[in-house]
Amino acid sequence: MNELRCKVLVIGGGPGGYVAAIRSGQLGLDTILVEANKLGGACLNVGCIPSKALIHAADAAHGLREPRAFRALGLSVGAPKLDFARTIAWKNAIVTRLTNGVGALLKKAKVRTLLGTATIVDGKTATVTGDTGETRISAEHLVLATGSESAELPALKFGGDILSSTDALKLTEVPRSLAVVGAGYIGMELGMAFAKLGAKVTIVEALPKILPLYDSELTQPVVRRLAELGVETLVGARALSFAKGALHVAAADGKERAAPADKALVAVGRRARTSGFGLESLDLTMSGPFVHIDEKCATSMRNVWAIGDMTGEPMLAHRAMAQGEMVAEIIAGSKRAFDAKAIPAICFTDPEIVAVGLSPDAAKAAHGEVRVGHFPFRANGRAMTLQDDEGFVRITARADNHVVLGVHAVGAGVSELSAAFSLALEMGARLEDVALTIHAHPTLSEAFHESALAALGHPLHI
Ligand SMILES: Cc1cc2nc3c(=O)[nH]c(=O)nc-3n(C[C@H](O)[C@H](O)[C@H](O)COP(=O)(O)OP(=O)(O)OC[C@H]3O[C@@H](n4cnc5c(N)ncnc54)[C@H](O)[C@@H]3O)c2cc1C
Repeated sequence: MNELRCKVLVIGGGPGGYVAAIRSGQLGLDTILVEANKLGGACLNVGCIPSKALIHAADAAHGLREPRAFRALGLSVGAPKLDFARTIAWKNAIVTRLTNGVGALLKKAKVRTLLGTATIVDGKTATVTGDTGETRISAEHLVLATGSESAELPALKFGGDILSSTDALKLTEVPRSLAVVGAGYIGMELGMAFAKLGAKVTIVEALPKILPLYDSELTQPVVRRLAELGVETLVGARALSFAKGALHVAAADGKERAAPADKALVAVGRRARTSGFGLESLDLTMSGPFVHIDEKCATSMRNVWAIGDMTGEPMLAHRAMAQGEMVAEIIAGSKRAFDAKAIPAICFTDPEIVAVGLSPDAAKAAHGEVRVGHFPFRANGRAMTLQDDEGFVRITARADNHVVLGVHAVGAGVSELSAAFSLALEMGARLEDVALTIHAHPTLSEAFHESALAALGHPLHI
């Protein structure tokens, strides 16, 4: 068996682990990263990037199939033809470019990367089984970043026509009909994309509304778009079983129904990956299914750190990356703590939804009286020129000192506004700070400016 020593051993090469390793290497720490599958983890290979590629392709295909918007511009196009295998090849090329890029960045930071599955021996040692045989690695610090995997339902186990999100992103043909079980952001994003690609989509959600983590004001425009796309939405409904061609569902009225389904996509959440590689041999305190961490991402064992999806919600790539960067800096001697004012959450649905900080109800519950300002995109010139003026920006601030507590938006392309919203919260901005900032014209971001003016009682353009 080969023997290696290092200062920092990172297990898992997803956004949490690879960022921890790059920063650790940049800081001059002798670092080894072990990845069982492909660098980039869920995010680059089967998550954020491939899903957004599919959504982009679906938007393009749908735009051509429903050329109303083009006609308004005086454009006419012939009937489009979709070669979906080629779409998937294009998506795969983006993934390869990015994962190769991660490999190059690790090399540049002088990180040694081992491809193979790590098994934990103790808090300072792991063995790795890979193509080049077995290697025993001893480290001063162990960073756990093993991520998460799709959760399945007992009655709907993955395999055959029952798909996880990973399987759905590998399809080379658009199914004629697709039932999506779970109306969280992953199910909704993929369900809407497949509907635009031509599948007959039914969404089945056990809770009384889609995107249950977002308030109804934000989800209403998505509900409307689902109807326009011909997507059937069954809320308060339970998926029972799948048989060729149909998903059997107990509907909200108690009656059983069969939704047409050449394939069923089960998107009912993600499970932390905390077993099967010796983690149990460490005496770690757990928080339910997740590894318990403090504000420094320290676990209950000295010099064992944990980051990303395995440590709990929100399971988002940017949280994993921020934790990874921080842990590397702490190991290198910096005084850091994870005290983000807000972690933005985005649904890349149609239209997109952005949530940063507290909703008006949550803000009221936490801080008492609040001021809320809305600005609709139907009064925003840039939204009109982009032919999509659905949605709004909503700002919530304390009534006493006007400190911004939350910014939410729904509309086409609002994901790109999330940085401004997060910055406002992180800098402790007041409504007046946003109102006195000159926002470029004509941009969607003017709706953010106007929402602050509205909360102060004097919007200009409505
Ligand atoms: C369809 C989909 C869409 C998504 N869209 C978004 C989005 O738009 N925005 C967003 O922020 N998040 C999104 N996510 C979530 C995001 O992908 C995750 O939050 C993120 O990847 C978590 O990063 P991580 O580093 O914690 O773990 P992961 O990305 O899961 O990486 C963990 C890595 O560890 C490796 N590993 C596990 N065990 C071992 C072992 N024993 N030895 C060696 N290696 C091991 C795995 O192979 C994996 O590569 C999406 C997820 C999915 C599934």
